[in-house]
Amino acid sequence: MIEELIRLLGKDAVLFKKEDLLAYECDAYTLEKALPRAVVFPRNTEETAAVVRLLNRRKIPFIPRGAGTGLSGGATPRGGEVIISLARMNRLLSVDLPNRRAVIQPGYINLHLTQAVADQGYYYAPDPSSQQACTIGGNVGENAGGAHCLKYGVTTNHVLGLKVVLPDGEVTELGGLPDTPGYDLVGLFVGSEGTMGIVTEITVRLMKQPEGVRTVLALFDRVEDASEAVSDIIAAGILPAALEMMDALAIEAVEKGTFPVGYPEGVEAVLLVDVDGVEAGLEEQIRRIVEVCRKHRVREVRPAASEEERARWWANRKTAFGAVGTLSPDYLVQDGVIPRSRLPEVLARIAEIGKEKGVRIANVFHAGDGNLHPLILFDSRVPGETERAVQAGSAILKVCVDAGGSITGEHGVGLEKREEMKYLWTEEELEVQHAVREVFNPEDLCNPGKMLPRPARCAEVKRHSKDSASQQK
Ligand SMILES: Cc1cc2nc3c(=O)[nH]c(=O)nc-3n(C[C@H](O)[C@H](O)[C@H](O)COP(=O)(O)OP(=O)(O)OC[C@H]3O[C@@H](n4cnc5c(N)ncnc54)[C@H](O)[C@@H]3O)c2cc1C
Repeated sequence: MIEELIRLLGKDAVLFKKEDLLAYECDAYTLEKALPRAVVFPRNTEETAAVVRLLNRRKIPFIPRGAGTGLSGGATPRGGEVIISLARMNRLLSVDLPNRRAVIQPGYINLHLTQAVADQGYYYAPDPSSQQACTIGGNVGENAGGAHCLKYGVTTNHVLGLKVVLPDGEVTELGGLPDTPGYDLVGLFVGSEGTMGIVTEITVRLMKQPEGVRTVLALFDRVEDASEAVSDIIAAGILPAALEMMDALAIEAVEKGTFPVGYPEGVEAVLLVDVDGVEAGLEEQIRRIVEVCRKHRVREVRPAASEEERARWWANRKTAFGAVGTLSPDYLVQDGVIPRSRLPEVLARIAEIGKEKGVRIANVFHAGDGNLHPLILFDSRVPGETERAVQAGSAILKVCVDAGGSITGEHGVGLEKREEMKYLWTEEELEVQHAVREVFNPEDLCNPGKMLPRPARCAEVKRHSKDSASQQK
């Protein structure tokens, strides 16, 4: 097989020695690891399709991979798969400003797109905190979000069309028209975590830069006050571009990180709020945000005095996950969603879970969306601590579901949260999801074992959906 792969792609595009494969044994979710059989680097759709046809013929499972920054094990092998890295498919293919579109290859880095069109007054809205490293193909895989998705929506709201290599090697195009009649297959594909095929070209929406942006920083003595302010800002009819929150442990981390802000002692919660749009309305929005924060006993609240100050506040927030490494040798990032009005009680429950399980938990999150990121600190060298961290993560997701929320806001299910899918879906509902997947991926060769738990009646479902898949094809 390795010889055949080398014949298709050339020697410099195939890794198969153990020492080379080690770097691919997991993504940024590091609790589960296994070696792939090989890693290949196609350069275009044709090469990707040729590799997929070969692997399909030999019935060898394969995994699409972007930058490997995923936080739920979506690009992690279970052992023996071939990883199809899209890292060399990293070109901007075209920009069409009159129609506000760009076409890119999947390995193109998220931030590079905004940098490429910024001079002409445009940008690409979805901005995960990992945007300096993650690929737009990976963003499509996970339906990634980011700080500014509160106002502008997540990846699926910005993808207009896809070119896809299906798991049997057939190449197809989805969407791409101003409006596509029929089922929304682009919507189905975005967020499918690499389980329906490999995206090889993406048409995305470009946005015009807003006329003005202002950022407000609010410091609170109590987490409850900050979370109530979050709900009230939106209830007051203001839709900030971003509304982020950090609690005391997260503040301790960012202050030890690369971009300290110098937060005063004893602050229990920080809110970072962006408003953008037509210049004329911005000061009024800020005045109202300040008013709501004061109503909730804010200690200090003020807009950024300069562009440099604003950039520093954001750099401090965006590097928070990494900064948590200054507090603990290991940490687990969770990703639950709740209705934002339930923030105060859910944050209190998360703190209780930390105490019950004997682990510290920092919270850094997209508060406006109710998208929580509890960071569970542990030391894998201490016997039992990893298990307690995992249990705490699962318990937090249950609390989110019980509060009317979900087990993932943007990081996907991957390997990590397959069991927690059962908090949300019944066995029957999961069977339906399996059946949908198997229309595209009937032999389960494309990223097997990800996203969905195996339902008890799986064998029966599999047989049934294989029959219907071949009929549909
Ligand atoms: C410090 C840090 C901060 C983060 N902040 C955010 C955040 O704010 N918001 C957010 O949403 N996420 C965030 N993430 C998670 C991660 O960056 C995103 O999930 C991102 O979309 C993954 O992109 P990637 O290129 O690394 O994809 P990978 O991790 O390589 O892959 C992710 C998934 O997509 C699939 N996939 C990859 N490429 C393709 C393709 N071409 N076709 C089909 N499937 C494909 C993979 O199989 C896998 O299931 C953060 C991660 C880190 C480490």
